[in-house]
Amino acid sequence: GRCVVAVDGPSGSGKSTVSRRLATALGARYLDTGAMYRAVTWAVLQSGVAVADAEAVAKVASSVSLEIGTDPAAPFVRVDGVAVDGPIRGAEVTAAVSAVASVAAVRQLLVAQQRAIIADAGRIVVEGRDIGTVVAPDASLKVYLTASAEARAQRRSLENATDVAATQADLARRDRIDSSRTVDPLTQAEDAVVLDTTAMGIDEAVARLRELLDA
Ligand code: C5P
Repeated sequence: GRCVVAVDGPSGSGKSTVSRRLATALGARYLDTGAMYRAVTWAVLQSGVAVADAEAVAKVASSVSLEIGTDPAAPFVRVDGVAVDGPIRGAEVTAAVSAVASVAAVRQLLVAQQRAIIADAGRIVVEGRDIGTVVAPDASLKVYLTASAEARAQRRSLENATDVAATQADLARRDRIDSSRTVDPLTQAEDAVVLDTTAMGIDEAVARLRELLDA
């Protein structure tokens, strides 16, 4: 039957790895909503409009065609047919994405696409910031992943070969914007299960979530 797992939390909490692994274990689809915000941000930067110009940003978002893959074994994102999987992880997109994601019209557009993908999939693990609260408030299971600021920065700097202190500062900056924006801020759903991954391995986190789904 239908099964929607919502995985929210800040970056570096282990969200992506845990979500993908869980989807694979469940034989479910996987949706990385952060990749959608990143892809729109890439398009905005390409277009040359200022990220602070909300109206222009919204215009770019509504004019591009976004395709996102939901196979946990082979995720991909395309903007107007162009694969942007590499560039959306780069420093330029990462620096601008929270500003783009705070534009209400951008969120409206992407939340609608996300809901359509979820309805179509039936069984899916969805990761983001507002999945349990806004995108799929009726999810079968809501998870809020956290980890200490140090652990999160360490993971990200390992992944991206960047300086730990600089990474920690950047994560803090993005969390601040994501948590304080007026539209769909990053918050814990009241009925979310909180999992702190600071001292927990990926396997343990995935096993814990499978137990919760079986219960
Ligand atoms: O998860 P990831 O770090 O790739 O997300 C990039 C950014 O996209 C976040 O910092 C946030 O600003 C935005 N985002 C969002 N809502 C989501 C997913 C991501 O606002 N559901």
